[in-house]
Amino acid sequence: MLDGCGRTIDYLRLSVTELCNYRCRYCMPEAGICKRDHREILSVEECVEIAEASAHCGVKKIRLTGGEPLVRRGLLEICRGLRAIPALEELCLTTNGSLLPSMAAPLREVGVDRLNISLDTLRPERFASMTRLGHLSDVLDGIKAAEAAGFSDLKLDTVLIGGFNDDEIGDFLALTMEHPWEVRFIELMPMGPCAEWDKSCFLPGTEILKRYPGLQEIVPNGVARRYRVPGAKGTVGLISPVSHDFCGQCRRIRVTADGKLKGCLHSREEIPLRGLHGEELEEAIRRGILQKPQRHHLTERPSDTPRNMNQIGG
Ligand code: SAM
Ligand code: SF4
Repeated sequence: MLDGCGRTIDYLRLSVTELCNYRCRYCMPEAGICKRDHREILSVEECVEIAEASAHCGVKKIRLTGGEPLVRRGLLEICRGLRAIPALEELCLTTNGSLLPSMAAPLREVGVDRLNISLDTLRPERFASMTRLGHLSDVLDGIKAAEAAGFSDLKLDTVLIGGFNDDEIGDFLALTMEHPWEVRFIELMPMGPCAEWDKSCFLPGTEILKRYPGLQEIVPNGVARRYRVPGAKGTVGLISPVSHDFCGQCRRIRVTADGKLKGCLHSREEIPLRGLHGEELEEAIRRGILQKPQRHHLTERPSDTPRNMNQIGG
């Protein structure tokens, strides 16, 4: 359906947990978060019910996210439930990849179409330092497991952070020479723990084009501007939510793991969906779509949301 600004909304990002086995410095506090009673988090049945109601409102694509979706108990049941929704054309999932060695095949079996795997650095010590709890080798094994399970068009999502990984842009581009993956550089958004980080950490996506002018532009996909290193098997995406405001093309709504509908990642407005069923639930989702904010204000100030990214779902 169309939102109040005339944009088609057909994409739901559904967060299935706030919990994570990593503590990425820009996303989560070091101590983690207070684990909520599981009754505060959407049940498997509620996730499926909300997805069904969203599909009645025009949603055709769902991305499962978190926190880390692969730590969610009942994830496979959720996927099965979503796959049974006739109007759902695409089921995707964003993961840090660490649990894919055991989960990639089951995810494929329950009908997940595509995976995005987050990977900010190819250097083991940096990886450990940024994620605080992670091992790079787990994610690399996860990528292999995903390919072995038949996930062919993998996307690797890399948050570009000045002074942390901007000296690895060339290494990430080199990956696309060997592998048919899309490496996507995402601008760091000022929210949660990184809202007050030094300005030098926030690099525009165009920095990549400045440093690698030989990249050839190809057809864009959604909000990603896309390029190819001449002769490469894979592609390069630039996702620039801050410098290249793509709000005018945004097709998304989000539902948090505690059941709040958000029209925009960066706004404070939330519509509680828990306890609603049938027509009432659909009506609340329609209201959220109609009230979707026109744009965020990241060029003027940090994100307006009081939530950290793991509490919304990136
Ligand atoms: N745990 C999963 C993962 O890391 O892929 C899914 C959830 S995570 C919140 C989703 C994506 O949001 C990740 O690619 C992460 O790097 C990104 N992210 C988190 N905080 C961000 C920020 N402040 N700016 C830009 N991207 C961010
Ligand atoms: Fe966890 Fe993903 Fe946030 Fe890292 S970015 S702490 S993996 S939710």
